[in-house]
Amino acid sequence: REGKKKRNFLDDTILVGDSGVGKTSLLVQFDQGKFIPGSFSATVGIGFTVQWFLFQIWDTAGQERFRSVTHAYYRDAHALLLLYDITNKSSFDNIRAWLTEIHEYAQTDVVIMLLGNKADMSSERAIRRDEGERLAREYSVPFMETSAKTGVNVELAFTAVAKELKHRA
Ligand code: GDP
Ligand code: MG
Repeated sequence: REGKKKRNFLDDTILVGDSGVGKTSLLVQFDQGKFIPGSFSATVGIGFTVQWFLFQIWDTAGQERFRSVTHAYYRDAHALLLLYDITNKSSFDNIRAWLTEIHEYAQTDVVIMLLGNKADMSSERAIRRDEGERLAREYSVPFMETSAKTGVNVELAFTAVAKELKHRA
């Protein structure tokens, strides 16, 4: 394992989770303040500042299947937003496998936040909020339910991670 990387004014955050959970939509909502329906084939990356501190956020796509998000991606990440879809049980069940992989390849002090996305689709909910909370507690990571569609908690989630990174830098 490499030594702890020196922090500067640019911290890399990556979005991970099963295909279709809304990673790209969430980043677009945060960046542009709007929901563009439909799946995105391309990945996006954005930079933003919180209190003059620049953050870089990267989307992942096409590598969502286990063991194929490149290990370099994890190694270079300072923060990970780990998403599941509250209407999709398997995306929630797979969170444990994502966390196993993250603990294997990411830096030990990586900032992790668990997000249950598509919170607007409550009529099709498959995972209760308290199930998300319990899983997050088990792994000692913060948790929020978000919606890339309505924007609920999106800014809050990104800025919480950014502030934590700034705090640690
Ligand atoms: P990714 O594969 O994780 O990047 O997921 P996408 O961002 O491509 O989204 C997959 C599908 O879910 C698309 O049809 C999106 O429009 C939809 N979607 C993403 N986030 C939300 C959300 O918060 N609410 C609803 N209702 N649909 C969403
Ligand atoms: Mg995507």
